[in-house]
Formats: sequence, structure tokens, C-alpha cells
Amino acid sequence: MAKKPNFPIKPTTRLVIAGRDAQAYHGFVNPPVYHASTVLYPTAEDQVAHRSRYQYGRRGTPTSDALENALIALEGEACAGVTLLPSGLTAISTALISAVSAGDHLLVSDSVYRPTRHFCNGVLKRVGVATTYYDPLVGADIGKLFRPNTRAVFVEAPGSQSFEMQDIPAIAKVAHEKGALVLMDNTWATSLYFRAFEKGVDLSIQAGTKYIGGHSDIMFGCVSANAKTFPALKQTIITMGLCVGPDDMYLALRGLRTLSVRLERHYQSGLKVARWLVQRPEVQRVLHPALESDPGYKIWQRDFSGACGLFSIVLKPTSEKSVHAFMNKLTLFGMGFSWGGFESLIILFDCTEYRTATKWAPGGPTLRLHIGLEDADDLIADLGQGFAAMKAAG
Ligand SMILES: *Cc1c(COP(=O)(O)O)cnc(C)c1O
Repeated sequence: MAKKPNFPIKPTTRLVIAGRDAQAYHGFVNPPVYHASTVLYPTAEDQVAHRSRYQYGRRGTPTSDALENALIALEGEACAGVTLLPSGLTAISTALISAVSAGDHLLVSDSVYRPTRHFCNGVLKRVGVATTYYDPLVGADIGKLFRPNTRAVFVEAPGSQSFEMQDIPAIAKVAHEKGALVLMDNTWATSLYFRAFEKGVDLSIQAGTKYIGGHSDIMFGCVSANAKTFPALKQTIITMGLCVGPDDMYLALRGLRTLSVRLERHYQSGLKVARWLVQRPEVQRVLHPALESDPGYKIWQRDFSGACGLFSIVLKPTSEKSVHAFMNKLTLFGMGFSWGGFESLIILFDCTEYRTATKWAPGGPTLRLHIGLEDADDLIADLGQGFAAMKAAG
């Protein structure tokens, strides 16, 4: 913007003003969507010298600049740069590739997003990077798992199905003492509710498909880096030729502008529904780190400034048929993967078969809920009808 505040501003204000340049856009508030590959140079001399603000569509446009600048401003001072990726998973895989090399060892949380695990066990293994999974509750004891060639630790808090909290500052302290980098999947809290760089993270990853997009209509990811990690990250993106389509970049920027109000509602409604579920006789446990009763509550309260709308429940043992009857009765909860859009979702999940460092034995069927922007009381009414159908099904 032409005039900048000369006083310290909060992240929510940064979300609104960052990356805007009305003068460059003829006074319009938002940037144009540049559909672009070729950039023309005015003269032969300019072409030979590559003398132009932009070189090629893949290497950046005014649209990608606006989104990158907004994301950088949101992260704050410690962020040296942000790179844009075509999905959350490419953001994860690219950040990892930028951080490890053949012969390195990597520590990854056992609660990590499952496709991250597939990438480590598949591509990284094939190119000579060994992965050890660790108990997400390990804290400073992670030091015992370090080998001389441990180059990075990949954290995710909370786990996006099982919701264990991690003591990221404690893990980061050990990692840095041992000369390793800390990568984090920060999709759950976003950079609004978890200030990754202030807690010791070196590369912070978000699946922008979720809350940044916010409307279940784009695939997008981003990686924020500090000064130590940005050069290698940027080089990796450039050499691998990764870029995002202009319409998706625009929608990500549009989503970003309203992130704070949407998240606030997801947070409050999510807690309201979670508290109601705690009281239900059908529910054994609610896995939500912002509930005082949750084992992760203390860490959440210390390190996070909010929660999103995603959490899980463990039902008391009951038949599969009755759980299906519960889900099939719901009218406001769609059954589908992903989350972070305006709408509520529910899925059945099971982590038992793939965990290697910890045992997942919840003692009942597990469901993950995403609380959308519907009225929380309506969602509660819907779940109540679901429980009635569950009881009827036996
Ligand atoms: C969805 C998700 C991703 C991957 O994002 P995509 O855009 O679907 O590739 C990564 N991490 C977490 C925690 C997610 O929930």
C-alpha cells in the first residue's frame, strides 16, 4: 500500500494489508490474475541481459508476488521468504528435498500426515535418506534418537487425526544443538495461531488447500523459510520447476484476507461442539488440544493462540453398523477427505496399521470432525439425530 502504518501492527491487520499495491494495479484493491508464460523484452540488448522485472511465468508474476508478500508479512520478521506450491503435499515433499541429501537421517513424528510418511518411506528412502519415526510425546528426549548424520526433524502438532501435541520448542532446542533443521506441518493452526519461527521452526509448511483457500475449491501449498533455509528451498523450487496456476494463487490470496474471521468461528464452534460431545454417553474421549481435559492442553495453551475446527472423537465400543447409521443420518456433515473449507465434514479413520514408533489403541471407533461455518447449535442438533440413529441401529 502507498501509506504504511508507522506503528506496530498485529497479524490480523497484516492479513488485510500485506501484498497490496493499488498504485501498480491502477487503483484497484486486488492484483490482476496474470495468465502468463512468455515475457517480452523491448530490445535485443534487454533480452540478452535478461533486463526485465519478470523473466518467465514459472519464475513469478505480479499475482504470485502479491500472494508471497502477503504470506511473508503474515509470518513476520523471522521469515526470509515463502514459496508457493501446487498442493500441501508438494509443499511437504519440496521442503524435505531442500533439507536432506543422500546419506542423511531424518526424524519424523509417528503422528504425521500419512502421505508425508509415504514420501519418506518411498522417494526419500530410494534416494538414500533414512527415516526414523518418533513418539510425538517425546519432547527433549528426542536427543536420544539422533545419529551423527541426523539432518532434520519433521514435526506436526497436533497430529491431524490423533491430535497429540508436541513440545516443539523443546524438540527444536535439541535439534539446533545438534545442527539439525526443524520442519513443521503447520496446517492445523496456520501461521495465525502458531508462530512457527518464534518457536524454533526453520521451515513452516501449510496445506493452503485447507484454511488459506477456505472454500474447498483449490489445491495449494506454501513453505515459509527463515534466512538459514530459504536459499536451498528457493533453489529447489526453481530447479524442480514447481509453480502454481494463476487462478489458484488468486483464490489463495482472496482466502487469506478473511482467514482470521473464519478461523475464529471455526475455533469457537469447534470448541462448542467438542464440549457437547464430551458430555455424550456414546463418546469415550474427545481428542481436542484446546479442551482443558486433553493431555496436550498445557502445551497448546503455552504455544498456540487458537485452534481450528478439526478434532476427533473416540466412541465407546459399538458395532460398525451403528457407526455407519450415525454417519448416514447426518445432514450437515459431508463425508469426505480434506478440511478447512466453510463446510462441516466427518470421516471414520484408523491409525492402527501404519504406526511404527507408538501403538494406537483407542478402544473404540474413531471419527474425525471438521466443524464448518454453520451455526454450532444446528451442528449439535444434527449430531444428536445421528446418535439417536446409532442407538436405534444397536
Ligand atoms: C491435507 C493435508 C496436507 C496435504 O495437503 P494437499 O493440499 O491435500 O496436498 C498436508 N498436511 C496436512 C496436515 C493435511 O491435512
